[in-house]
Amino acid sequence: MHELVGALRSYAWGSRTALARLCGRPVPSAHPEAELWFGAHPADPAHVKTAVGTTSLLELVAANPHRELGAAAPEFGDKLPFLLKILAAEEPLSLQAHPSATQARAGFERENRARVPLDSPMRNYRDENHKPELVVALDRFEALAGFREPHRTVELFRALEVPELTSYTEMLASQPDSAGLRTLFTTWITLPQPVLATLLPAVLDGCVRYLSGKGKRGFTLEARTALELAEAYPGDAGVLAALLLNRVTLEPGQGLFLDAGNLHAYLRGLGVEIMANSDNVLRGGLTPKHVDVPELLRVLDFEPIDLPVVLPEPAGDGSVRYKTPAPEFALRRFDLIEGSGQVPLTAAGPGIVLCTAGTVRLLQDGAELLVGRGGAAWISAADSDIRAQAVDGPAQLFCACLGAGS
Ligand SMILES: [Zn+2]
Repeated sequence: MHELVGALRSYAWGSRTALARLCGRPVPSAHPEAELWFGAHPADPAHVKTAVGTTSLLELVAANPHRELGAAAPEFGDKLPFLLKILAAEEPLSLQAHPSATQARAGFERENRARVPLDSPMRNYRDENHKPELVVALDRFEALAGFREPHRTVELFRALEVPELTSYTEMLASQPDSAGLRTLFTTWITLPQPVLATLLPAVLDGCVRYLSGKGKRGFTLEARTALELAEAYPGDAGVLAALLLNRVTLEPGQGLFLDAGNLHAYLRGLGVEIMANSDNVLRGGLTPKHVDVPELLRVLDFEPIDLPVVLPEPAGDGSVRYKTPAPEFALRRFDLIEGSGQVPLTAAGPGIVLCTAGTVRLLQDGAELLVGRGGAAWISAADSDIRAQAVDGPAQLFCACLGAGS
């Protein structure tokens, strides 16, 4: 096991307080801090501290994939198949979806044939992988994820009492299924500018009236979110599209799983995120970045879903696990109580142990490693019998390793 130092990513939507506070640095930070990456992603790998110096996790794995990743190495092309992050969103992220593995392979090939450079901002497919994602809330985490049951969306539209919305409401009411959602979403995301310029302000006015009105307020969060998105991205058709999605609030410890085709946007909050090591993102708005609507429409899953919330389940070893079908990763959480002794981290390697609260002492044979908040350790496939102990109060650990399929 080795200490692993994460790579800090600064994006405009990040927070100047959440990550700095978690890691015990002064607040506010000089720049908005959005993500702390723990992985072997070529764009920004984490760094491993060894007895002979510091090296990137990317180089460490590449130098000896079998030793670091074990027997599963060939299945994942001798690369660490997941990326673990702490994510701190102060502002909404773009409306997006990720392709399935089949769609990613085809799209990557198509763009290669069309000679779109790999680093071009116009590129949709930067690799051949799908990108299932799981985010676990560290504090309250707000998001939009998956298409809401159409009947409920019709109720929302009627509650807003916007005459300009009536024809669209009736469109969905007459076909309250995935085909109706596809039609309405496609219409809205491709609205001619003059139509959008009338419809969007009318809907936003409806939201304001709804929020200031009396009576039963079943859609308060939805209306407030539309107004917030419109403030961050004025005139963006993605604000209308967002009204079709489930509004999700995760309490600390709850997870959200985003499989291929799920249209989603993180709104705000601090969380631990794990995903397959891919950059394949198709955006539908709420971003200054490249938006490719036809390609997005090709990968979107319009089947309405309930909230894709993943509740932690006891794993039988003192941890809880967040079950997903992803073969690239599995995520468990240990809540350690001071004085409870040494807890064995079963099957921790190959993988990453990340501390999100308190301080943890990791022990192996005679060696020990202290990991504080925002700190992590790389556990290779060759490492066995790792134990963890809370130091000076309770502590929380996330263990990221390969998925059940591997
Ligand atoms: Zn995503």
